[in-house]
Amino acid sequence: VRAVQCSFCGTAAFYRREYEGVSLCQKCFKRSIEDKVRFTISKHKMLSPRDHIAVAVSGGKDSLSLLSILSKLKTKFPLSKLTAITIDEGIQGYRDEAISLAKATAESLNIEHRIFSFRELFQVTLDKIVKRQTKLAPCSYCGVLRRRALEKAARTIGAGKIASGHNLDDEVQTALLNILHGGVERLVRTGPVLVDPEQRFIPRVKPLCGLYEREIALYGYLTGIEFQRTPCPHRNRALRNDVRDVLNALEEKHPGLKYTAYSSKLKLSDLLGDRKIHLNSCKICGEWTGRDLCEVCKILVQNQKLECLPREA
Ligand code: SF4
Ligand SMILES: [Zn+2]
Ligand SMILES: [Zn+2]
Repeated sequence: VRAVQCSFCGTAAFYRREYEGVSLCQKCFKRSIEDKVRFTISKHKMLSPRDHIAVAVSGGKDSLSLLSILSKLKTKFPLSKLTAITIDEGIQGYRDEAISLAKATAESLNIEHRIFSFRELFQVTLDKIVKRQTKLAPCSYCGVLRRRALEKAARTIGAGKIASGHNLDDEVQTALLNILHGGVERLVRTGPVLVDPEQRFIPRVKPLCGLYEREIALYGYLTGIEFQRTPCPHRNRALRNDVRDVLNALEEKHPGLKYTAYSSKLKLSDLLGDRKIHLNSCKICGEWTGRDLCEVCKILVQNQKLECLPREA
């Protein structure tokens, strides 16, 4: 039996990419992943040659692959600068490993690595917040605070862009979750690039949004990137997990479905998403928000109230 050949170079293939109907050898697979990232960056005009990019590095496969791919692309843009940023949410027994992996990868790529913690930025850890506040899932508190932490971190180091490792699966899941939760505003407002026309926030870009999660894992494995495998103890994304399972089952039967779902979402954003949003400055911290108090201050105020309550015996 003849081995399956790589559709590009004719050597032995090791992977079949169903959604494009091609087989790939390891070398062509790696190159195709890097090409896809380059394509996404230029298609959505994510980066400029002189950008200082704060790369959000959690220590997982996506963010570490992103850091490694961006450092390769950087060789063509000598005036650009990358800084790896890890946010330490204060999750006992989980973040430490991730931080050391992020540090090691950044070091091996010769990229400066900075750590910013919830404790130093907000004077409280995520562990404490989720112990006291149970109204929402831990990831909701974490997400709000982490977004702010990244913004603060990027401002502190003088970065002009924030890049994160969100992949195609994340993006399609989020879009579907927004529909299921009734978050239509959010559905059309989010996308591969988030730029505030009034420059109140640092632009955010997602260079991996065109890549399948499992292909990033494969890329990470082939390039020898060591990433964290232990899941976060607060991870409780019941609905997201169900959505992921449904999408994976559909993709299995109909290869390419995640791509078409995502491009429909992008078209919707193009059609509806270009509205100006009126924002006030938060009465406590002064950051921009649609209400009187920003989401971060709401969490922190609630946390302080609960902290002052007498403990039950
Ligand atoms: S799983 Fe949830 S709580 Fe844990 S780090 Fe991620 S967003 Fe935060
Ligand atoms: Zn090949
Ligand atoms: Zn505030």
